[in-house]
Amino acid sequence: VTAPGAVRRWHAELAWLPGRGVHAGVLVEAAGPYFTAVTPGVAPADCPPGTARLAGFTMPGLANAHSHAFHRALRGVVQAGQGTFWTWRARMYQVAGRLQPDSYLALARAVYAEMALAGITCVGEFHYLHHDTGGARYADPNEMGRVLIEAAVQAGLRITLLDTCYLSGGLSPDGSSVELSDVQQRFSDDDGAGWADRAGQLGADEHGMLGAHARAGVAIHSVRAVPADQMGPVVAWSHAYGAPLHAHLSEQPAENEACLAAYGVTPARLLDRAGALGPRTTAVHATHLTGDDIELLGDTRTTVCLCPTTEADLADGIGPARALTAAGCPLSLGSDSHAVVDLLAEARLTEMGERLVSGRRGSFPAGELAQAATVAGHACLGWPEAGEMAPGAFADLVTVALDTPRLAGTQPGSALESVIFAGSAADVRNVVASGRDVVADGRHLLVDDVPAALDAAITALLSRS
Ligand SMILES: [Zn+2]
Repeated sequence: VTAPGAVRRWHAELAWLPGRGVHAGVLVEAAGPYFTAVTPGVAPADCPPGTARLAGFTMPGLANAHSHAFHRALRGVVQAGQGTFWTWRARMYQVAGRLQPDSYLALARAVYAEMALAGITCVGEFHYLHHDTGGARYADPNEMGRVLIEAAVQAGLRITLLDTCYLSGGLSPDGSSVELSDVQQRFSDDDGAGWADRAGQLGADEHGMLGAHARAGVAIHSVRAVPADQMGPVVAWSHAYGAPLHAHLSEQPAENEACLAAYGVTPARLLDRAGALGPRTTAVHATHLTGDDIELLGDTRTTVCLCPTTEADLADGIGPARALTAAGCPLSLGSDSHAVVDLLAEARLTEMGERLVSGRRGSFPAGELAQAATVAGHACLGWPEAGEMAPGAFADLVTVALDTPRLAGTQPGSALESVIFAGSAADVRNVVASGRDVVADGRHLLVDDVPAALDAAITALLSRS
C-alpha cells in the first residue's frame, strides 16, 4: 500500500497486536493516514532517528460504535431521584428540544474531544435530531448532520454518521403509530421516502464517503419509531451504498410487548422480515431476547453493540452477550448516553455482567473484549481497514500509561488484562488518529481546553429556560 504524506515512526514499549498478542519493542511506521510496517522485537537503539517513543501500553484506536452526542449534557443532572428509562427519556427530550446547529456544534465538538482523550479514534453517531423545532426544515435539511461531521473533524476523530429514520412516537397494540410528541417532530421525515430523500441530499459518493474522515451509514431508530412498512427505504439505502445499518433492538421489555401486540413477532423477527438483519447490520443493546432472536441474530451474522454503562445506568438489564457471540454475532461497544465515556469500562462491564449472571469468571478473555473495542467496532461502522496495527490499516494508536496509580505494577505478560480490567480513560496518554497526533501527554492538541469546552456548551444548554 502506498499513501501520500510524510513517513512517521513510533516505538511502542509494549503493544497489543490484534490476533498476535502483546509484544515488546514494536516499531510502527506510517505514511500519511496508513500504517506501512509493524515490527515487534526492535530495541530502542535500533530505531531510525526521529522515531517517537511511546512509553506504556499501545493498542489500535478504539471505536465508539454507538453515540448520541447531545446526551452528554445530561450527565449528573439525571442521577438525582428515582425513575425508569422512560422518565430519563423525558429529561433527554428537554435537551433535544433546545439544540440548534451552533449549540450542537459546540457540544458535539467538546464531547468528541472527550472521546479522543479516552482513546476513541472513530465514532458512530446515531443521529436523529434532524430538524428545527416543530419539525421545520433548515435551509439545508442535513444541517445538523453536517454539524456533527464538522465537530468530529475539529476534534480529530473519524465519524460514521448513522442517519436515523424516526417517524412515529410509538406503537399501538393495533399496529398503528402513536402520534409524535412536540420534540419528536424534530426527528421525523414524515415517511420512509421522505427520510431517503433527505439522506440522499447528504451527498455521499458511491462508496458512502462524506470526505476523508466521514462515512455515511443509516439507522432504523427502533421498531417503536419506524413502522414495518416504512423500513424498506432504509434497508435499500444500506444495500445500494454497502453502508452500515444500525438499529436499537429490544432495549426495554415494553418495546417487545408493543411489537408482539402490534405485529405478533419480536423486534428481531420484525427487522429480519424487513431484510434489515445481516453482516452489515448492528443491533444496539439486544438486551431482552428470546432464544429464537439469538439464533436469528447469530445466523445472519448481525453485529451486536453492547453499551453496558448505559444499560446499567438506564436500568435496562444485562443482555445475553456470551450466547450472542456463541451464536455467531460479532461484538462491538458503545458509550451511547455518555453516562461515562470510557471504552475500557464498556469492555470490562461486558465480562462483569456475564459473571454476575452466570456465576462464572472468564467468559470473555481480555483479547476478545479488546477486539470488540477496536477491530469489530470499526468494522460495524463501515471502516474495515481500521482497528488493526498492520500495514494498510489506518494509523490509529492509543497509548495507555502504566505508571498511573491504577496500572502501576503491570507485568508485560498480563498487560492487556491489566488495561482492560483495571485501566480507565484517564490513563490514556497519547492518541494518533489517521496518522495525526490528536492527544499528546494527556492533552488534546486540537481542542484547547476540553473541560472548559464541555462546561461552556453544557451550561449554556441547561441554563436556557
Ligand atoms: Zn442509543
